[in-house]
Amino acid sequence: MNEVALWWIGTGNVDPELLAGVRAHVQKIFRLPARLEIPAIRPDEAFDARRKQHSSRLILQWLASNRPRGAARLIGLTDADLFIPVLTFVFGEAQLKGPAAVVSTARLAGAGLPGEAARLPIRLRTEVIHELGHTFGLLHCRSPRCAMARSASLRDVDAKQPDLCETCRALFLENVDEIGEPHEQEEHADPAGR
Ligand SMILES: [Zn+2]
Ligand SMILES: [Zn+2]
Repeated sequence: MNEVALWWIGTGNVDPELLAGVRAHVQKIFRLPARLEIPAIRPDEAFDARRKQHSSRLILQWLASNRPRGAARLIGLTDADLFIPVLTFVFGEAQLKGPAAVVSTARLAGAGLPGEAARLPIRLRTEVIHELGHTFGLLHCRSPRCAMARSASLRDVDAKQPDLCETCRALFLENVDEIGEPHEQEEHADPAGR
């Protein structure tokens, strides 16, 4: 079953409309059934007390091992600030052609500047499409408006549409038949702030 599961695994409260909007968007863009859940468990072991951030790599491992039956892909959505060891932070990370991805709202909400919070829903949709795209085997795209374009900053995120360009869509459609059997476990981090 080619279902996509979305899990809220954040530490704080979340606007249910924000999550419902993301779920509907995933379903529309990938044309796959998507379900939203708030599990009782959290990847507590991913917290790095020294950095006061969560390891996106450990979250991916945790998601992959807790993936519900019937879900070909599982994307975790969190308000925890994510890092990989060599970078200050990441917007998200995904297993290339693998089952798991994660996106954080922590940096997408901006620095509390006026008007920034209003951009969160569209930014979150864009980055969720981006990370799920990696799980479907898509690499970074050179079209700056495509959701698969690399984003190093919020400005880059804002330049993108929350959708795939024609080239990426065609690649996705080629890959989608195989998505029931994720195999590779290579991680693909999305650096930000450099
Ligand atoms: Zn593209
Ligand atoms: Zn990426």
